[in-house]
Order: sequence, then structure tokens, then C-alpha cells
Amino acid sequence: SVPLSFFGGIGCASKNGVLVKGSNYLEAVSKAETMVFDKTGTLTKGTFRVTKLAPVEGSSESSLLLNTATAEQYSSHPIALSVLSEWKEKNGKELAKVEDAQEIAGKGLKVTAGGHVIHAGNQSLMAELGLTVPTPEEAATVVYTAVDGVYSGYLLISDEVKEDAKEAISRLHHVGVKKTVMLTGDRKAIGEYTAKLLDLDEVHTDLLPADKVSYVNDYCNKKTKGRMVCFVGDGINDAPVLARADVGIAMGGLGSDAAVEAADIVIMEDQPSKLADVIQIGRRTVQICN
Ligand code: ADP
Ligand code: MG
Repeated sequence: SVPLSFFGGIGCASKNGVLVKGSNYLEAVSKAETMVFDKTGTLTKGTFRVTKLAPVEGSSESSLLLNTATAEQYSSHPIALSVLSEWKEKNGKELAKVEDAQEIAGKGLKVTAGGHVIHAGNQSLMAELGLTVPTPEEAATVVYTAVDGVYSGYLLISDEVKEDAKEAISRLHHVGVKKTVMLTGDRKAIGEYTAKLLDLDEVHTDLLPADKVSYVNDYCNKKTKGRMVCFVGDGINDAPVLARADVGIAMGGLGSDAAVEAADIVIMEDQPSKLADVIQIGRRTVQICN
């Protein structure tokens, strides 16, 4: 039978804006050894803004934006939303109807619209088309665009870390989490910049959703007996990782249903610093029970 005080713990968590789906997860999170994070939307706000349009020579900023927005109208990724809001701000004309679309998780997308095939995404998506593209030095996410297989330029998109992200990491170390890790599909320059800013112990970049699962799997295999590996995500592309970790934790702030579904614990407000609170609530609950 489940000790009564476990329900007390779940209630206490819930008063703090944290939904715990079972008493076993509250106990497990209190033993967190490794805390693995997704980047976009989890440690960063995921509210991107377009900061630069860099069309190839002979092309224009407005046609680059038009083509990219035409592709991104199909996606609900935070990157896509920023491209579309830039499009609305600058122009607002109607975009060509999407005839066919395919989202390539962790890379970008391929869309057929107005009789053209548009690819928008990262360097590895461009490499699949046999295109070599420049690597900007700025610490920003890059979206490359190709129309009918021809490279047409890139957009720089900047995100910000959440206000309490740095505090969240330092509090986790303080309550005894041994290792904090960030896994991201974003490129090396931006991943390393963010990890340094937040004092994370490890960062792995240029990952596909499946790579994130295998990293979490490795951490689970290497953990100290009796301790736990937690993964914290926002649910966009990372439901399988949430499921693989000992404890899957979703940041519910962006309201992704997939994340709420796949997670064991949901932080209702978009505050990573609540993680240390949950660990402490879990510990107090276990102490009362024993
Ligand atoms: P993260 O791991 O940081 O949460 P994702 O796995 O969601 O990021 O995406 C990884 C990378 O794939 C992004 O940094 C971007 O380069 C590319 N990407 C994903 N979706 C899109 C999109 N809709 N448009 C352009 N690029 C995208
Ligand atoms: Mg993400």
C-alpha cells in the first residue's frame, strides 16, 4: 500500500504548480543523479526573433523571407513561429498554399507550395541536398533555405535563456544533482555558448531526437545504483526521450499536449528553478514515510 504521506507530497507539489503522476516518481526524482535538459523551449524561452536575413547574391531579403515563411507555415516549431511573425510584420501578404509537406524532426522541413519545393532547416538538411552552406559566427540559430534544390540564403534567429535557468542549474547542483547535461539539435556554437552561460556540466549538439534517446539510455546504464536519470523537455520532438528517462519531466508552459502526456512530472509554469523544489519535496516526503 502507498503510505499516506506520499499523497501529502503530491499535494504539496501540486500547490507549488507541479503535477506528479504517481508517488513513485516523487521518490525517484528525489534521487536524481543526472539531470538532462533539452535546450529550446526548456532552458531557453523558445520565443525566437529573426535578427538577420542573409540572401545569396542576386536575391533579396524579401524573397528569402517569403520562401522561408512559405515553408514554415506548415510547422509549429518555435523557429517557424518566429519566421511567420517576421513575415507578418514586414509584409503580411498571403503565402502560397502548401500542397505537400514533410517535417524532418530535428532538421527542418520540406514543403511543396506554389509549384516549388522549399527546404528550410539546418546544415545537415542542406547536406542531404548536396548543398554546402556558410557557417555564421554569431551565437544564433541558423535556418537555411533552398528552393528547388538551389541554396537561397539563411536567416539568423535568436532565442534567450529563461530568466531563472542559471539559478535552476546552480540550485540543482546545490541539492546534490551530480551532473547537469544539455542535449540539443541546434549547432555547436550556440549549444556551447548556452551551456557555458548556464554552467552546465556537459553539452551535446547537432542531435536528432533518436540521438537524445541514446544519450539518456547511456546515462541510465552508467548511473550509480539507486540513483536516477531525469530528462526535462518541452515535448516538441522529445516525447520518446521523456519516456526513456527514469523520470520524464515536462515544462508545461508552452502547453504542449504531447509533453504533458509523455511526462511523469509536469512543471505547470515555465520555471526550471522549480526542479530543485520538486527534489526537496520528494526528499521530505520520503523522510516522513521512513
Ligand atoms: P532542440 O534540440 O534545441 O530542442 P529541435 O530538436 O526542436 O531543437 O530542433 C533541432 C534543430 O532542427 C533546430 O535547431 C533547427 O536547426 C532545426 N529545425 C527543427 N525544426 C525546424 C523548423 N521548423 N524550421 C527550421 N529549422 C528547424
Ligand atoms: Mg526542443
